[in-house]
Parts: sequence; structure tokens; C-alpha cells
Amino acid sequence: SQEHLFALAGNPNCGKTTLFNAITGARQHVGNYPGITVEKKEGFYSLDGRQIRLVDLPGTYSLTAYSLEELVARDFLVHERPEVVINIVDASNLDRNLYLTVQLMELGVPVVVALNMMDVAEGRGLRIHAEELSKRLGVPVVPTVARRGEGKENLLRVAVEMAQSERHWEPLHVSYGPDVDPVLKDMEKIIGEHGFLTDLYPARWTALKYLEEDEQVKAKGRQANATVSEHLEALAAKLTEHLQKTLDSYPEAIIADHRYGFIAALLKDGVVEQRLKGNRMH
Ligand code: GDP
Ligand code: MG
Repeated sequence: SQEHLFALAGNPNCGKTTLFNAITGARQHVGNYPGITVEKKEGFYSLDGRQIRLVDLPGTYSLTAYSLEELVARDFLVHERPEVVINIVDASNLDRNLYLTVQLMELGVPVVVALNMMDVAEGRGLRIHAEELSKRLGVPVVPTVARRGEGKENLLRVAVEMAQSERHWEPLHVSYGPDVDPVLKDMEKIIGEHGFLTDLYPARWTALKYLEEDEQVKAKGRQANATVSEHLEALAAKLTEHLQKTLDSYPEAIIADHRYGFIAALLKDGVVEQRLKGNRMH
């Protein structure tokens, strides 16, 4: 009997704990991540004789190194390697919630999106085309209403299917524009040639973290290969200086802008439909 490990990831208040409770019921226990006070909730569910272990990750908006929650969430993904990350998004606040989705996909973990709060979205006259969103993201998207337990079994079936498929999930490649992309490409080349942190992260992700001045990744990098790390830091510093001079901006801001641009383009025409008030049934 094989056990599947799935993780639940999502923004605060997207309904993560509600979904976790709806799935695991009483079959859960609460502990802490080793050495820190961040709560770790684990639960179990059986589906067709298969045991699923589900971990409720801390709620996060991002996967940077700014908060303990974000560090815990991404370290869990990188070190525990759950077979599937169930990314819960609030359907009534889709663009903002997809910011985390994009980062999960850039990290290259297998993602299933749970499109939660579908009742709230509907109540606001929003019709969300889950299949179209799935097609554009390239990952499964399953509508849920966690508060009523709706969609949970379907969600888990899709996740188990993903865990069992032989498919390899390529990390998402977002374009960061004419200033940043060439630098990322140079960095990726160096990273690839040296197998620098490639046991942990996709090359482009490591490069992005160097541009974002991510202290945790840089510390790991220095330990792994100080020379390569210094080279990457120098490339990042050069780009920072260039962006400062030409755009009065800095890499992290440009990176965030492009991620939001990527999401806006993804959602343009045909994913979210705002029904006219007059057409509402009540
Ligand atoms: P978390 O911060 O992601 O763990 O979010 P919670 O599970 O604590 O949920 C936040 C609030 O949203 C709670 O009041 C839930 O009852 C509510 N909620 C969760 N899922 C749904 C849903 O699908 N529909 C509606 N209407 N409310 C939901
Ligand atoms: Mg919660």
C-alpha cells in the first residue's frame, strides 16, 4: 500500500484550513515545524484504498524569504518534495491569488489548482471558466466550495492522477523583459554548467532568487560553490545598477511587474466573465 504526500498551499484566507478539515475530518494532528513555532498540520484521507497524507502549509502570498511562513512553505516543497501541491485560490480574487500559483509553477512543483470560493464568485456575478484557465496555465483546475465540501473528492482524484502520471513538469518560464531576460539567461547557463543548487531548484528560479537578493538561497549558494555564487552576485549587482540608472527601478520590482503582467495576459478575455446585473436570476 502506497502513501501519497500532497501539500496544500495558498494565500491566507483562501479557505485552506476549511478544505483541509473537510478532507481530513478528525484524522489530523497538529505539531510544529522542527525548531520553530510555525504550526504544522497534517491529515489523512483514503481514496480507493490509497492513503493520502496531506500537509497544510502556512498561508503565503509569495515564496520569497521575507517571512518565516514563506520560508517554511518553500523549504517544505523543496526538501519534502510532495508529489502534488494543491494550490487553493480564491476564485473571487483570482488575479491576486495567481501570483503565488505562478511562483509555485516557476519552482517546478506539480500543481493542481483548487478554484475555491466559487459560491462567492458566483454571488458577485462572476462566471469563471475553469477549463479555459486550466488550458492557459497548463495544470488541472478544479472548482470547489470548501465550506460545503464541494469538489473535494474530484480534487483529490485529479491530484492522485497527477501523482501517478509519468509526466515531467517543466518549470514555468515567465518573460521578465529586455533588461532582465538576457541576464537570467547568462545566469542560467552558469548555473547549469556547474550544477549549482540544481538538486534543489530549477536554474531559472535560482537566478531569479539572486536577482531578488534572496539571502537564504544566496547563503546556500555560497556554501555549495562560493566562486559561482560570487559570479552570480556580481551579475545581479550589475543589473541592479543598470536598472537604477535607466529606470529608477530595481530587479525585484521589475520581476513583480512582469509576474502581474503575465497573470493579466493569462486572464484576458475568456476566463472571468462578469455577468450583467440584469441577467441575474435573483
Ligand atoms: P485559510 O486562511 O486559507 O486557512 O482560510 P480558512 O479556511 O480559515 O477560511 C477563511 C474563511 O473563508 C472562513 O470564514 C471560511 O468559512 C470561509 N470559506 C472557506 N471556503 C469557502 C468557500 O468555498 N465559500 C465560502 N463562502 N466561504 C468559504
Ligand atoms: Mg488556515
